[in-house]
Amino acid sequence: MKYISTRGIVTPISFKETVMMGLATDGGLLLPEVIPSVGETELSAWRALSYQELALAVFSLFIHDLPPEEIKKLIDRSYASFTHPFITPVFRKGAIFILELFHGPTLAFKDVALQFLGNLFADLLAETGAKMNILGATSGDTGSAAICGVRGKERINIFIIHPHKRVSLIQELQMTTVTDPNVFNIAIRGTFDDGQAVVKEIFNDLSFKQQYSLGSVNSINWARVLAQVVYYIYAWLKISPEGHSNVVDFSVPTGNFGDIFAGYIARRMIGPGIRRLVLATNENDLLARFVIQGEYRLGTVKQTSSPSMDIQVASNFERYLYYLYGEDPRMVREDMKRFAASGSLSFPKELMKRVQSDFAAKSVSEPETIATIKAFYQEHGYILDPHTAVGVKAGLTFRQEGVPMICLATAHPAKFGAAVKLAIGKEPELPLSLAELTHRPSRCEILDAQPEAIKRFIADHAQRTQ
Ligand SMILES: *Cc1c(COP(=O)(O)O)cnc(C)c1O
Repeated sequence: MKYISTRGIVTPISFKETVMMGLATDGGLLLPEVIPSVGETELSAWRALSYQELALAVFSLFIHDLPPEEIKKLIDRSYASFTHPFITPVFRKGAIFILELFHGPTLAFKDVALQFLGNLFADLLAETGAKMNILGATSGDTGSAAICGVRGKERINIFIIHPHKRVSLIQELQMTTVTDPNVFNIAIRGTFDDGQAVVKEIFNDLSFKQQYSLGSVNSINWARVLAQVVYYIYAWLKISPEGHSNVVDFSVPTGNFGDIFAGYIARRMIGPGIRRLVLATNENDLLARFVIQGEYRLGTVKQTSSPSMDIQVASNFERYLYYLYGEDPRMVREDMKRFAASGSLSFPKELMKRVQSDFAAKSVSEPETIATIKAFYQEHGYILDPHTAVGVKAGLTFRQEGVPMICLATAHPAKFGAAVKLAIGKEPELPLSLAELTHRPSRCEILDAQPEAIKRFIADHAQRTQ
């Protein structure tokens, strides 16, 4: 399996090279040359697999330059840190199903991909003796999950940029209390989008990127998307009754379009078993407006109770665009140029029919989010975190009788205690791992959201790669 760029300028590369490249050198995003499809027989055989075994089966379709034994070791190591035996268990709650993705070490779904990516980076670097500096922007959860994935790893330094005072206290502490010498937290004066823009700009400085062997942990890294494909198929296998014609819907709280794009790939792999993906946004409704109105237009970021989705530029959108345009990189290039110049794109009706058969969308307001947490707690005694609540609200809106609606639970409610308290009058109990954070020493650098300032800091604290 080779990988190509959405902008078509990169000559096809291997999986390992794809992981190391992160953002494509032509400014695009990397994708497999073909999406493998899984036949009915194979799919039935997958029903008997554990999560780890299924991950191996899925990964093996996309990774041809690592031996299966090595992939298996990586998977086993990565999911040993999860506290639930099923890794991503599914539970029925009234009319819907909840797919719990928060049983990893930082209690958000990003651990599923970042535990794997951290180990993968370490193995690939050990193979070649190289070193790397990871640079990433976070709206809260990616940072802690990425840091947790690589802390203490020999050949890697990690620089994580979060928007100063715009992440929850727990999220901040989960990052800044990791004081391993290879971990550097940077709080920028600005929003997540500012952080993401700075990171993209630094990655686009190819000589800097090369000089410091910059690696990416944001969902622009294909390995993250790949790791997330697994739980869609796993949940489908668990919930759909025997047979390929049985369909389920998924509702996905969305910010950067990464998680839901993994659902799109899963759907392309297993066919009509995944019927519809519900794209749920908070009040930052860029993606919902795209699906509903055919307009992709930059807005200004609003702070909400689901900060990991306070995003107005969805970096993975370009991957979907590539497929929407029938895999024509020229059209992607033109659109991206147009978007960079004008901050908006609009799509014709015929194309929107395709989009709307792939996705249904809803933007969920702050009062709706809080009301959903409250109602769900009253009905089921189950506490939703605000991100999950956004997905549940949209899932309930589009649920159809006879089609199971699986809502992705992307974070443990204790990470967002203040919002939960607003809804149900009390904070969820803090798991021990979070409770002890407040007593730990912390470390963080506050900088302006300027590429030059960030580059200087990286240069001063990087692993020497040459
Ligand atoms: C990152 C995150 C999301 C959004 O995921 P994307 O891949 O950016 O769409 C949703 N919920 C939580 C808790 C997150 O951390």
